[in-house]
This record gives sequence, structure tokens and C-alpha cells, in this order.
Amino acid sequence: MTRKLLLTHIDVPGIESFDIYRQKGGYRSVEKALKTMSPEDVVEEVKKSGLRGRGGAGFPTGMKWGFLAKPEGVPRYLVCNGDESEPGTFKDRFLMTKIPHALIEGMIVSSYALGAEVSYIYVRGEMMPQIRILEKAIAEAKAAGFLGKNILNSGYDLEIYIQPGGGAYICGEETALLESLEGKRGNPRIKPPFPAVSGLYGCPTVVNNVESIAATVPIINDGGEEYAKIGIDRSTGTKLISASGNINRPGVYEIELGVSVEEFIYSEEYCGGIAGGKRLKALVAGGSSVPVLPANLALKTAKGELRLMTYESLADGGFVTGSSMGSGGFIVYDEDQCIVRNTLNFTRFYHHESCGQCSPCREGTGWMEKLLQRIEYGGANMADINLLWDIQKNIDGNTICPLGDASAWPVASAIRHFRDEFEWHILNPEESQNRNFGLAHYADPLVPVS
Ligand code: SF4
Repeated sequence: MTRKLLLTHIDVPGIESFDIYRQKGGYRSVEKALKTMSPEDVVEEVKKSGLRGRGGAGFPTGMKWGFLAKPEGVPRYLVCNGDESEPGTFKDRFLMTKIPHALIEGMIVSSYALGAEVSYIYVRGEMMPQIRILEKAIAEAKAAGFLGKNILNSGYDLEIYIQPGGGAYICGEETALLESLEGKRGNPRIKPPFPAVSGLYGCPTVVNNVESIAATVPIINDGGEEYAKIGIDRSTGTKLISASGNINRPGVYEIELGVSVEEFIYSEEYCGGIAGGKRLKALVAGGSSVPVLPANLALKTAKGELRLMTYESLADGGFVTGSSMGSGGFIVYDEDQCIVRNTLNFTRFYHHESCGQCSPCREGTGWMEKLLQRIEYGGANMADINLLWDIQKNIDGNTICPLGDASAWPVASAIRHFRDEFEWHILNPEESQNRNFGLAHYADPLVPVS
């Protein structure tokens, strides 16, 4: 049974309220940090924990905190990125809805560590229910003396404000988020300078994902070393996974990092197997921005090792035979799914969400969408596959922000692993509109998992 750190009390009725959350041990980490630890001690515990950013990049959180500039007389900010909009990813929304105080508690501890006296939670604009829930949680925490002036008589002051997002996926990119928070159009900034030096209003700023901030609560309660005992290698602790697609039990799961992909898909504790008893065809392991893996490479690496749910194992093989943990958006495709159609779906999304600042992304995403549409709906020729390949290659690595790369990787991996499927669509334009290509690429479990 997986050890739970974030979702321990998820089934307790009323856990979204301050009183029940407190009865279950909530806000202990704030008491411990403010009464017995210096801000540097808190940073040190997070460094020891090995926690890596849960938003997608996987950068070590403690190290990110360590980069924060601390000029005299200049405010510092913590900004929580709750602009979760990646297709296939819904874990932060779940956490904010079900256990809002876990985020508020983590915000207080993290803000204290960074020396921030004003912090923001930037929540995707469409998530109005979550914004209301968090506002209520902040009011409750303040009424109980965990926010405001002189928290727990420690001399530390903190206010947390909620900012509804600007209504665009790109506002989840940390510098676009800061622009949006400042009231401007959410365009990503050219880096450097990085937010740790010049972030919100030109001041040193840390931007962390919702889950990363909530994870500081068990780290401070139990100590960084205890947290680091969970997981494998540099993938420590637990991770929330949003599981969707053709599985029996879609939902949000907290896993100990290191469980195998196979166990996660087929075990009754998690996804419960492929729906309808069908076979696995492909996996998008970390949200729409990561390379799609064919079934054989989803369950085992190219070296023949069991593929594990860790940052290292999912990336084993680079983007040629591997993928990425990404945002934890785990999308399973069964044997009836069409790779071309799913790739078109993602590409349409990136074209729509491109902010338009850089031409490879602005133009390239549109060209890729048009080509994929031709391949899917008829009118394409074989040269279009190579053209599609060239376009994604010219986007990858040539843009201001990672949205460009994120639009290229799904296309590159789809062509790399499923080229025969693209060819079949071009050779069978009539059929391709009505039914799925389906000859190879399927896999049954390697070892049946009970
Ligand atoms: Fe905008 Fe795309 Fe360039 Fe990012 S990569 S800055 S989304 S045009």
C-alpha cells in the first residue's frame, strides 16, 4: 500500500475546513517552523528532502530557493503557480478543491523560508470554485492567527492573495504568469534575468507549483531525510498523478516514486487496467507536452529494464526512446486510439495557445496543425510526413519559452514511433476518416499485476 503524504486525510468528511484539518494535525509544520526553526533551517530541510518541482521541469525545489537574491530593503515574493492547464493534468485542481489548507499551510512555511511577507496564488481563471475555496481557507487561517501580523507571536507577518489567471495556457509559464500578475498580457519574458533575481515587480521571486508547495508540509513535519527515504535515487517522496484515458479507474493517485509504469496501469490500487480488456497501445506519461511512448517502450526501457515512475526512468533513452515525468498527466491509449488524431488534437491546442512572440512557434504550430489535418482528413502525400518532421525540428529549441518545444515533442515522437500509422492514413484517405489504423504497437502486461 502506498504511503500517503498529501492525500492522507482525503476521505475525512469536512477536511476542507480549517477545524477538521487542524484536528488531523494541520498547521503543525507552521508551528514547528516559526517557533523552532530559522528560515535557513527550513530551506535546508527542503534541500535534504530532494523534492523536485512537481509542475513539469523537475528542478530541485531547495536549490531553486537557494538561488533567491536577497538584496537589503527589497521585498521578496513567493508565487504559487496554480494555473494548471496542461491537457491531461488535473492533480493541482484536485488538491486545491479537496485539501485547500494543505496548500495554505505550505504557502506559510515556504514564504517564511524565503522571507516573503506578501505571497500570491495564481489560479487558472476558469477554476472559480477553487478560487472561492482557497479564499475561504485563507480567511479561516487568518482568523486562527496563522496569517496576518505577528503569526504565532513569532514576529513574522504574511498576507496571501489569490489572483485569477488570465485565461491562457501560456500564463502557466512562470515569467508569463508574473507578467499577468502585474496586470499585463501574459507573454513569457526573455531570460536572463531569472525570476530569482528579477521577478514580480522586478523583485526576487520564487514561482513554485501547487503540489511542490504542499509537499513542504510533510517535509517540515517529518524532516527532509525522512522524505528522502521514499522513492528511488533523485526521485524522492510521493507524487500526484492525474490518470486518464482508456483505463478502468481514472482519477488522481498519490504514488511513491519508483512504482513501475506497468503496476500503475494494471494494479487495482491505481488505474485498474485497460478499459474493456483491451490492449495498451501507447502512453503519454507526463501531460500533452511530453513524447508519446509506444506500449513496448512504456513498460520497459530500450535497455530492457522495467520502466519506473521516476524522473530518471521515464526519461531513460532521452526523447528517442524515453519520455518525461512532466506534470504527471498520465494518459493511456488503448488499441483503438488513433495516434494521428490525438497528435492533431494536441497540436491544435498548442497552435491556439501560442502567444505569438516568436515566429517558429507562432507559424510552426499552425503549419503542423494544417499538415496533421491533411494527413488525418485526406489530401496529404508522403512528403508531408518529412515536412512535418522538419517543422517540429525547427521549432524545438528555437523559441523564447518551452511552449514551442512542447508543441514539437509530441509530433516528433508520434512520427518516430508510429510512422507506419501516418503512412497508412495517407494511403487510405477514405478509411482514415472513419476508422483507426491498427496493426502493431500493442502490448499486454509483461507480468500480470494483481
Ligand atoms: Fe510565445 Fe510560443 Fe514563443 Fe512561448 S514559444 S514565447 S508561447 S511564441
